[in-house]
Amino acid sequence: MNIRIEIPENVKYIIRKLEKSGYSAYAVGGCVRDSIMGKVPSDWDICTSALPEQTLEALQMDNIIENGMKHGTVTVRYKGENYEITTFRSDGVYDDNRHPRSVSFVTSVREDLARRDLTINALAYNDREGIIDHFGGVKDIKNGIIRCVGDPDERYNEDGLRIMRTLRFASTLGFEIDSRTAKSVHRNAELLGNISAERIASEFNKLLVGSNAGYVLESFPDVISVFIPEVKPMVGFAQKTPHHIYDVWTHTVKAVTFTPEEKLMRLTAFFHDIGKPEAFTESPDGRGHFHGHPELSEKMAYKILRRLKYDNQTIDTVCRLVRLHDKRPPAEPKYVRMFLNELGEKLFPKLLEIKYADAMAQSQFRREEKLNYIEQLRSVFFQEIEKGSAYNLKMLKINGRDIIDMGVKDGKCIGFILDKLLEMVMNDQLENDREKLLSAARKLASEVSKEV
Ligand code: ATP
Ligand code: MG
Repeated sequence: MNIRIEIPENVKYIIRKLEKSGYSAYAVGGCVRDSIMGKVPSDWDICTSALPEQTLEALQMDNIIENGMKHGTVTVRYKGENYEITTFRSDGVYDDNRHPRSVSFVTSVREDLARRDLTINALAYNDREGIIDHFGGVKDIKNGIIRCVGDPDERYNEDGLRIMRTLRFASTLGFEIDSRTAKSVHRNAELLGNISAERIASEFNKLLVGSNAGYVLESFPDVISVFIPEVKPMVGFAQKTPHHIYDVWTHTVKAVTFTPEEKLMRLTAFFHDIGKPEAFTESPDGRGHFHGHPELSEKMAYKILRRLKYDNQTIDTVCRLVRLHDKRPPAEPKYVRMFLNELGEKLFPKLLEIKYADAMAQSQFRREEKLNYIEQLRSVFFQEIEKGSAYNLKMLKINGRDIIDMGVKDGKCIGFILDKLLEMVMNDQLENDREKLLSAARKLASEVSKEV
């Protein structure tokens, strides 16, 4: 194989040291794949014929992390970088579709490559021998094909996570899944039931932000339904409104592809309409309605994201955006301030991204109008930021201390007065001016005290 790839000096050094002690060693897996594709690999893994103790002996390095040695992996820290060096191994019988019951060390790199998931990942390289490619990985990279090494049914039965990895790489690399592999993915989708929520979510995130996420989601809703069964009713669900030409699932997939390739945006687009099938009603004229679908979608997104063990901040942000995605108040300052009150300055533009993606994934019906509306919201937003308009309590030129100094002691009353002041400021009924706020507060305080 005459392809040459550029490996970092540190990796060359480690490989050379192992070779000098009589072992063979290669860069392996993702780093070789990425290099062939002209991408910069995120990390460099090394495989070797040396047993873990022999690796330690050969390298004579001080900075060694010994956990993982049982599975054949030695991690060394060299010049500020970590490198995993794994002894060639072949995995024994798999328990629970996830963990090999045993691993046995082997002497040939071919056997080590044979245990890897996809042909594009079953590649090794060193400067002396060039690319080691026993399973057609280079050709598959050139043709943009994702294919299992060996029999796909067997490979997925050994480890169900490979199903997610197959979809993830198709999405991130923009590759197509070979038909035999794709059929096997469909056939074995249920095996994902054995995989932990965290591992699934981690692959799902990568899949969603991939450039080919649309193709993957559109082609494999059955796989996604294994860990998000709420997707099933979306597939083929007709919307019966002039705003839509696609069923709920296809619309969702299109909306995902119209968002930037960012995790929060793509999760929000993924969930924004998930409550639609349940919220559906049909009026006598045969038109479909989805009253309350944003709130329902928010509830469902919350439940699903919790189940998949997402972090609280991700859940909170996605839920807020899902809830607000379909609100369409006039593009006026006071309404934009209300959005800002709920979302803050950073998230509001994200809401506009979602609204844009949603509109683009609908029919042409009144599209110009929808897009113009979003741009109006955006320009009002810029004006409000420029003006420094207040949209939360912190921005008011008065605070709880001032109210207490007026003689109001009850916490609830203080909160009520401040909320009322903010509401007036946000509605342009009162200027955010300290003196004016103080006098309005005094008036409110005397009213409140009369009521008590
Ligand atoms: P990236 O690091 O860019 O996500 P990668 O291919 O390097 O992609 P890793 O998870 O780092 O993925 O795995 C390193 C290599 O180990 C892979 O290239 C593949 O050869 C092999 N591998 C990883 N996970 C599996 C698996 N579940 N089954 C079989 N082989 C695997
Ligand atoms: Mg990697």
